[in-house]
Amino acid sequence: MNPNNLPRRTFIRNTSILTAAGLTLDPFSVFAGSDAKVWTVGEIMDTFISQVPNAPFQTTVDTLKIGSREQVVTGIVTTMFTTLEIIKKTIELKANLIIPHEPTFFSGSDETDWLQSDPVFRAKYDLMAKHGIALWRNHDYIHRMKVDGVQAGVVDELGWNEYYKQNPVLDIPTTSLANLINQVKEKLGVPAMRYIGDLNQYCSKILLLPGAVGGKRQIESIMKEKPDVLICGESNEWETPEYVRTANEMGMKLSMIEIGHSASEEGGSEFLTSWIRKHAPEIPVTHIPSGNSLSII
Ligand SMILES: [Zn+2]
Repeated sequence: MNPNNLPRRTFIRNTSILTAAGLTLDPFSVFAGSDAKVWTVGEIMDTFISQVPNAPFQTTVDTLKIGSREQVVTGIVTTMFTTLEIIKKTIELKANLIIPHEPTFFSGSDETDWLQSDPVFRAKYDLMAKHGIALWRNHDYIHRMKVDGVQAGVVDELGWNEYYKQNPVLDIPTTSLANLINQVKEKLGVPAMRYIGDLNQYCSKILLLPGAVGGKRQIESIMKEKPDVLICGESNEWETPEYVRTANEMGMKLSMIEIGHSASEEGGSEFLTSWIRKHAPEIPVTHIPSGNSLSII
């Protein structure tokens, strides 16, 4: 991902204008003398949730992990994973609300009882607490908008809007698997990806399932849609990759590309950034890609 994406540059330009004018990003000075709306964390959450069909949900992982609903928002950072670096950049930006897509505390439900005395957990949690940062996970809600916000964001990032029918199946101009991999690598800024299949295979029908939707759902979607290639975020090696390997051993024309979880859904954080800019234009918002935790050698 390109960390110097346009929204970030725009934000920095805006803040330097404010700085030049002797203003800081403190909300009270920024908004002083104007009627600009001041947003609380709860208002941001409620406004987003109000646009999701059948929301709010009884059961959801999209809870406030730290901070309070009443807190006035000075700035928002969107990302996939809240790393220590993301928290430090949030502090530098004088923002105080992080909206990640994925868990912060190393499990789906972000339970923290088992981590209380762990230094890795404490490093993250205490840094946010010390700087008054609130964190709201937005995973279920963005996926269950009328059109899945993550899917739409990733399609946009891949430059495939003209082939998008608001579902995971896209018919793109025919290309080889090798070319397709290069295209995805370039658009999503991923240096290397794992794949299964024949690099010379011609691909047109794409099944795009960002993130980690689970082996059964990936395989059931392959059975239903019969794509040339599955493009996913990640999968357990003993599930979908073994299915695709067997299909190849049988001579079936079926490939699979694994982007990596973070990059595969980062477009969703860009979607969220645009959403905030549109619905809460008073708040400076910055999208910071969190990149892949795993390096390649
Ligand atoms: Zn997701």
